[in-house]
Amino acid sequence: MVFSSTDHVQHILWGHPKGRDIIENTYEIVDEYLRKFLASLPEDATIIVMSDHGAGAINGIVYLYNWLAKEGYLRRGQLNLQGALFRKFKDYLRRTLSTRSRKWVRAALSRLRNGLGEAETASSIEWNQTKAYSFGTYDNIYINLMGRNPSGIVKPQDYNGLCEKISIKLLGLVDPKTGDKMVECVYRKEELCSGPYTEQAPDLVVQWRDYTYFTMKGIDKGEADFGDDLKVTASEFPYTGTHRLEGIFICKGPHVRRKHQVRASIMDVAPTALHILGEAVPSGMDGRVLHELFEEGLFQTPTGGDEIPEKKVPIETKEVSPLSEEEETSIRERLKSLGYLD
Ligand SMILES: [Zn+2]
Repeated sequence: MVFSSTDHVQHILWGHPKGRDIIENTYEIVDEYLRKFLASLPEDATIIVMSDHGAGAINGIVYLYNWLAKEGYLRRGQLNLQGALFRKFKDYLRRTLSTRSRKWVRAALSRLRNGLGEAETASSIEWNQTKAYSFGTYDNIYINLMGRNPSGIVKPQDYNGLCEKISIKLLGLVDPKTGDKMVECVYRKEELCSGPYTEQAPDLVVQWRDYTYFTMKGIDKGEADFGDDLKVTASEFPYTGTHRLEGIFICKGPHVRRKHQVRASIMDVAPTALHILGEAVPSGMDGRVLHELFEEGLFQTPTGGDEIPEKKVPIETKEVSPLSEEEETSIRERLKSLGYLD
């Protein structure tokens, strides 16, 4: 069972005069649902309550795409026809749809919408003069690497040096409002990921100081690299709050030690849930069973779970249009019928 209202309410009401009361009230409503749900379960059920992150204030917005352009790593180009089409279609949706139907479109066409955003970005870049790029949210930077990216220009022998240079520049960023340092750490993909999908991860991931900054593309913000405009496409209200690393983890059940505190990683939840169900934990699964939660000897979990097969994953590149031919044709038709295209 997933409750997402606690997330949304903190995104849009953090720091508002009435925010605290409304956020608390949201938790009370969720608690009431939870009470009803728990009442319907057998008494000896083991229950885990967890969140995948915490929440806190946003201090500012960083437009990573624009910052990379300003620092000379990314070259803006003219939107090509495809990019112009995507932008027009997006603008059309934004202008003509009511809030309610925008929500519907958002849900129904989420893949298409993401595709539109990425295709618009991708088509706005001069790839043969771009060393690094970013699609906005999630603090990710990709290197335009020769041999990996379709129009890669960074030679493999220059990859490490470039990552290092960009990281140093990011670590030196200061908040224009306060003069404080903004970046805690810049990770390389190998520091955060392991396994067959690592190659698909962003080359650099920025960890903002205290997680108080929010990254956006800012492709429509001229050349600004910082901003206060906290409007994101996921919400009709501006964002004042964003995620924090620490979440909650609560476990209750007949074999669970009472009032015992553990320090858990989010990756420990799945193996622990398997353990509670008496299932073996697959050997390739990250995280660990939180054995210290349980009274000793009550669970005999089979050991030596199945190996998760290592498969070679084809690397998705972001430069090609993520839309199928069919989707593109339907956008063209749509724009034609609206008089945007001849
Ligand atoms: Zn959220």
